[in-house]
Amino acid sequence: MAKIFCVANQKGGVGKTTTAVNLAAGLAKLEQRVLLVDLDPQGNATMGAGINKATLTASVYEVLLGLADVNGARQRSDAGGFDVLPANRELAGAEVEMVELDNREKRLKDALAEVDGEYDFMLIDCPPALSMLTLNGLCAAHGVVIPMQCEYYALEGLSDLVNTIKKVHAKLNPELKIIGLLRVMFDPRMTLSQQVSAQLEQHFGDKVFKTLIPRNVRLAEAPSYGVPGVTFDPTSKGAQAYIAFGAEMVERIKTM
Ligand code: ADP
Ligand code: MG
Repeated sequence: MAKIFCVANQKGGVGKTTTAVNLAAGLAKLEQRVLLVDLDPQGNATMGAGINKATLTASVYEVLLGLADVNGARQRSDAGGFDVLPANRELAGAEVEMVELDNREKRLKDALAEVDGEYDFMLIDCPPALSMLTLNGLCAAHGVVIPMQCEYYALEGLSDLVNTIKKVHAKLNPELKIIGLLRVMFDPRMTLSQQVSAQLEQHFGDKVFKTLIPRNVRLAEAPSYGVPGVTFDPTSKGAQAYIAFGAEMVERIKTM
């Protein structure tokens, strides 16, 4: 049985896609079988894994609407060593088109069940909104990984996300829990980063992952080459941190 995790935060630009792509690559390096699901119409995770979003014959859009199955839509990321269920702009239409369908919150869950035995991990890169797409991600998952920058406003948005997760847990997916908060783009020289980081630990305790992801330019450069940062420059601080995070996740699921 695969463990399925959403990488979610309703804010944009907080490191969701970077985390999804590099955690996938980090886990692949640890011999884990991974499916990365791109649930954002921007298709950044797709491109970051080295798959051209402009030439897809089938994508997660067709899968959600029942026009293709996962097996027909997934592709291999040779650069990352994992499989990808890709996305592009078409996915933006799914939001409206799914309204008419039965079981609309659980369409992704049902589709992923087909390939469950083939993976150790499925990672879902969510869009920056608490939308029907994100809801499909949350209904399909065992847990949520929340990347956040250690800045003042980061904490403010967190309560909306935590409340949404609580509601989904109560009404739609009793398995769902917050696996952890991941501190990303961390700059230890900034006093504010240190303070917010300490606040997070105080407030959320064990739910804060031990691994810290530093701000690292190699992680930001990698997507323009269509390669995960972990593969692009494996010795960089950013790559090393995501590999360590992969190991922390492998440990974490043992106790789930
Ligand atoms: P989201 O998916 O939440 O919108 P992204 O993962 O696309 O966020 O990250 C936003 C921007 O920050 C991107 O340009 C990305 O390359 C950059 N970025 C993300 N994580 C890091 C990091 N640890 N170090 C440096 N740049 C980063
Ligand atoms: Mg993104």
